Amino acid sequence: KKASKQWHPEDSIIEVGNIKIGGGHFAMIGGPCSIETYNQLEKTAAYVKESGGNALRGGAFKPRTSPYSFQGLGKDGLDMMHEIGQKYDMPIVSEVMAISQIELFEDVDMFQVGARNMQNFDLLKELGKTNKPILLKRGLSATIQEWLMSAEYIMSEGNENVILCERGIRTFETETRNTQDLSAIAVVKQLSHLPVVIDPSHAAGRRDIIESLSLAAVAAGADGLIIETHPEPERASSDGEQSLYPEQYRELTEKVWKLHQFM
Ligand code: PEP
Ligand code: MN
Repeated sequence: KKASKQWHPEDSIIEVGNIKIGGGHFAMIGGPCSIETYNQLEKTAAYVKESGGNALRGGAFKPRTSPYSFQGLGKDGLDMMHEIGQKYDMPIVSEVMAISQIELFEDVDMFQVGARNMQNFDLLKELGKTNKPILLKRGLSATIQEWLMSAEYIMSEGNENVILCERGIRTFETETRNTQDLSAIAVVKQLSHLPVVIDPSHAAGRRDIIESLSLAAVAAGADGLIIETHPEPERASSDGEQSLYPEQYRELTEKVWKLHQFM
């Protein structure tokens, strides 16, 4: 199978805009859960870049638990992010929720497939027909084998630019929103050549343990981190509790790059 080490013994290196991810190349992706306003996203991009981040995240189509919660700015959000990504010279990543949205992502450097869509096989196959990199999040209750099979759905259609993202899985624990499965890094590295990015924000659901999870992920061999941060987390439209303050993002990024030197 195409995601397996047998198919491709060397670690894959995926190009995302002007950066590379995998095979020793590390992604420090930062940004808000949701794109809210031009000003909010630009402020965020400015400190993400200044702190040493090398890619920008932001949701324009949001898979909210409640249909009454903020659903995202849609295409207008993607346009804002494109402009800001260019201005700060960072590739951009955003979640695509449906086949009908794919065409709106022309200026986006990497598609994010959210945890809730990990087994939306029609969407995966359609993304497999594009040649844009895909950040494939692990499903809320998906096994590593199921996650890798979802990568196969994309790769079997021709697009081999897949990056796996562990964002926490459902367990019985209630102190954290989900449980970060750090063992997935080591296991996936044995089974697959694909890069693995860790999302401690959605795993933890709380900003106070993001640093511990991030540093542990780097030490375990992760190829990148995707971190939610907001200039004013209390005012965020989504996931404010888990979003780092600008200063926390800066401190974390500094530590991550220092630790990564030894990997
Ligand atoms: C997100 O990245 O904001 C998000 C909704 O992530 P997940 O699909 O992992 O819940
Ligand atoms: Mn979020």
